[in-house]
Amino acid sequence: MIKQAVPEIVVLSGKGGTGKTTLAGAFAALAQNKVIADLDVDAPDLHIILKPHPIAEKDFYGMERARIDLERCTQCGLCIEACRFDAITDDFVVNENFCEGCRACKYVCPVDAVQMLPHIAGKWFISETRYGPMVHGQLGIAEENSGKLVTVIRNQAKFTAQKGGYGLIISDGPPGIGCPVTSSITGAPFSVVITEPTQSGLHDLDRLFDLFIHFSVTGFLVVNKYDLNMDMTEQIERYAAERGVKPIGRIPFDENVVEALVNGVPVVEYKDGPARDAIVKIWEKVKAEMGI
Ligand code: SF4
Ligand code: SF4
Repeated sequence: MIKQAVPEIVVLSGKGGTGKTTLAGAFAALAQNKVIADLDVDAPDLHIILKPHPIAEKDFYGMERARIDLERCTQCGLCIEACRFDAITDDFVVNENFCEGCRACKYVCPVDAVQMLPHIAGKWFISETRYGPMVHGQLGIAEENSGKLVTVIRNQAKFTAQKGGYGLIISDGPPGIGCPVTSSITGAPFSVVITEPTQSGLHDLDRLFDLFIHFSVTGFLVVNKYDLNMDMTEQIERYAAERGVKPIGRIPFDENVVEALVNGVPVVEYKDGPARDAIVKIWEKVKAEMGI
């Protein structure tokens, strides 16, 4: 029997620092029967709010890295010429930090002295939180391939949800619009975008909305700290609606948001305040739109 896909909603922002994790953490606290995923693998911080306890830890393998067997190597230099990334030293040693795993050195080596070795580029975890299971990861410093790690985490979140009978996946997506964002929304039916009312916020959204169209994602817009610039808030909401992204709520400036973060709790579990009230209403609207 084919199991039905578990509904998934990804919280995104055109850039970092607009309240994305605050909103995702609040949704995680408000939603019932869900799996939580932190897809911001370059700089994860959902754990600050949700305090996960890992129950499984796995290595994440990124690109392979070349290694030269110096016993076999005849020092012909062909690999150094072939390497576009200057990753091989004059002593025929591969600098792991520069190697991109392209295999050019392996192809040109006449004596098969180059091996391609798996490379651990990060970790990912299945954890328990008091809000439900959470899948999250951390890419190593200066490691690439965050899009691939995002895919690993999303797949594990889907597996955990299906196996455990959970009815929803809530993801804190990566900031920006690069490859990890693409990996976050490919095949995801819903996304909430949170932005602040600034000109640069409007510009960042433009590119994100292009991705929504391309990947057939139903997007909703939330303007954070909307009361700091009402004109820009209205402009952004008008623009979103024109691009097919429904404005679904506004969050006012509220010092409780920062205080909640400093205290490591979801804002909806902190003191009563206007931001908390707004987020609770937004979550009700999101549920209605998703039909859950
Ligand atoms: S795999 Fe590519 S990047 Fe790495 S050392 Fe070989 S040629 Fe250079
Ligand atoms: S191509 Fe092979 S034999 Fe030649 S220098 Fe490189 S590793 Fe050594």
